[in-house]
Amino acid sequence: MVKLARRMDTLPPYLFAALDERRRAIEARGVEVISLGIGDPDLPSIPSAIEAVQREAARAENHRYPRYDGLPAFREALSAHYARRFGVTLDPERETLTVIGSKEGLAHLIWAYVEPGDVVLSPDPSYPVYAAHTGLAGGEVYSLPLRAERGFLPDLDSIPENVADRAKLLFLNYPNNPTGATCDLDFLRDAVEWCRCRGILLVHDAAYVEMTLEGEPAHSVLEVDGAKDVAIEFYSLSKPFNMTGWRLGAAVGNAQAIAALGRIKNNTDSGQWHAIQYAGAAALNNGPEAFFAEMNGIYRSRRDRLSAGFDRLGWEVEPPKATFYVWAPVPGGDDRAFAARLLDAGVVVVPGSGYGEHGKGYVRLCLTVSERDIDRAIERIAALTPSPFAR
Ligand SMILES: *Cc1c(COP(=O)(O)O)cnc(C)c1O
Repeated sequence: MVKLARRMDTLPPYLFAALDERRRAIEARGVEVISLGIGDPDLPSIPSAIEAVQREAARAENHRYPRYDGLPAFREALSAHYARRFGVTLDPERETLTVIGSKEGLAHLIWAYVEPGDVVLSPDPSYPVYAAHTGLAGGEVYSLPLRAERGFLPDLDSIPENVADRAKLLFLNYPNNPTGATCDLDFLRDAVEWCRCRGILLVHDAAYVEMTLEGEPAHSVLEVDGAKDVAIEFYSLSKPFNMTGWRLGAAVGNAQAIAALGRIKNNTDSGQWHAIQYAGAAALNNGPEAFFAEMNGIYRSRRDRLSAGFDRLGWEVEPPKATFYVWAPVPGGDDRAFAARLLDAGVVVVPGSGYGEHGKGYVRLCLTVSERDIDRAIERIAALTPSPFAR
């Protein structure tokens, strides 16, 4: 066998492999598993995108290599959306870039900035891509704990100056996966200022910015005055438009960071298919707000349904104000054992420790199943003996 590169050792062990294996064994016994696991919308994509992709797929001019920096029609549609939705002006040419899903963009951005010895400031728990690619690139992750008592916001003032001195990037993600937490504009303003003072690039992962279930709509970091000097933001069509399989998102903000990401991408991929970018433009141009409102309404009802189930179980869980994730403290605190026990009962949830050290003691449930299946999942949990919930 050819020896793998040493950097492969930096990738965390695949947490989900063991759970997947167990799930297959359970399904082999004939149990139909209800998955509150992966964050992948169950409902169809926005109709305007489906119509556009069908039309554009038939046009031969779309059958060639895409433009490296992305289709102007998509980047203009996104800029217009940012102007309407956030009051943010973007130059489509210099301040936006199409990415093949924000996961791709986040991963490649790290390669543009991080070299051995550099520090990346990353929330914990968090989306695993930030830490995985920092490790591959030889960088060091400095974890920013997200704790319930601080509303799952990191405490930037607790970062030692000698760590901040070595830091290149700060990752933030609000509304947040996996905690469902939100932040206000003041928090983003402080983060921008903190990064400006220290010469750190603020990377805001805005995958859930359209998914507020309650209260004020969430903010783009670019709403902060001067944010473009220090911040890049990733916008994703995946979750809000039910388009996870299409692989479409965008980087927006700081022109230098956008250009650097573009250079990595030019040398790596050849961009997203124009038919899909036209579809994204159609989705953004044709009143996406109504679609967001409809979807968020569905997630809100599901959340309330699940909360009612939690009440019946005697499981105390704070309902999220945004995203489609419920971050639930585990009775007894052993999230892996608890997730395994639920899986044996036919319910998939994700153990929080998969998102980092500070995710321990929680499980994440995703609201991407029908209310009927939510009820069925609750019934299965209620049937556990002995009950894990003290009453
Ligand atoms: C789902 C998700 C992404 C990736 O979204 P794509 O645009 O589909 O690649 C990025 N960040 C977070 C926090 C996510 O939950």
